Amino acid sequence: MGEPLPVVVGLDVGGTTCNATVLDAGGRFLVNRLVETPSRVAEGPDVTVAVLAAAFAQVLELSGTPRTAAVAVGLDTPGPASADGVLSSRGATNFAGPAWRGFDFRGALERAVGLPVTYLNDANAAALYAHRQHFGADAAARSSVAAIVGTGLGGGVVEHGRVVTGAAGQAGELGHVHIPMQGLLAPDQPLPHCNCGFAGDAESVASLTGIANNLLPYWLTHHPDHELGALPIAEAAALVRGYAEKGDPLALKVFEQQAMALGRLFTVAANVTDPHAYFVGGGVVETAAHFRDWFLARVREHTVLREEQAAAAEFALVPDLDMAGARGSALAALITVTGAIPDA
Ligand SMILES: [Zn+2]
Repeated sequence: MGEPLPVVVGLDVGGTTCNATVLDAGGRFLVNRLVETPSRVAEGPDVTVAVLAAAFAQVLELSGTPRTAAVAVGLDTPGPASADGVLSSRGATNFAGPAWRGFDFRGALERAVGLPVTYLNDANAAALYAHRQHFGADAAARSSVAAIVGTGLGGGVVEHGRVVTGAAGQAGELGHVHIPMQGLLAPDQPLPHCNCGFAGDAESVASLTGIANNLLPYWLTHHPDHELGALPIAEAAALVRGYAEKGDPLALKVFEQQAMALGRLFTVAANVTDPHAYFVGGGVVETAAHFRDWFLARVREHTVLREEQAAAAEFALVPDLDMAGARGSALAALITVTGAIPDA
């Protein structure tokens, strides 16, 4: 045995858990499962950064890699945050409390582990992982967009194998792109509003928040005897997918509108970056195969591509969503170190 290959560690940090992985310089993930620890966000930044430093050491040990082989760390978190990993001064849903406002997450982790840290938001990291898994050795020559439907609608834009981050770190915020509502909404359906302040953006329809605030309250008025009407709206919203899997007409209306919103969003992307691939991820596709396939087919159907684009483009799912953030942030760190996206 010679010297171990240099490695990078990916750390995906959310409001409840941290997930860690190890990627070697040859492009191989050395951990094949979810390695999670509680992120202890409620106890403040110092505690969470200490948790991350411990997770860093633990995942290296788990992969049988000496600490000295680690050359960089990739960090991803939910936003909003700047391009270099400073959380918004206005606060972030997953990092509540005054100590988190304006917190330099990337800088603090860099000091804690003594290695360079690359930062991405969680949706960007998942988009990068989806891109590399899908295209493999061709990743550096391809482009993609990814939409990840969760509480909000996360997104990522990848060009030539690299995440487009933008001047302020806010590129790829696909959820807040305005989409045409004509023909998407029913004639008497109110214009949906998003938590960002916009009306009629993609997230106002294609997110769990959009179901709770906009879609479900409307569709319940057309199905007054539906059993979901008896529950608090947030609780009912989380159950809609289960109903849709069973073919419930109200739930299918909700997801038909979400698929149409994603299709219209991808139609915008088709005219902006004209990507090779469109990825859909999140709870909406982490589901029964028949429903997932129906949903992806509907998204595709509602994406208006020119003939040449339709021949060139692919539609696919974001794979391994629970590990995609950690793996994508590890890829970003390796790209920073080596200057190239590793072959699969
Ligand atoms: Zn919005």
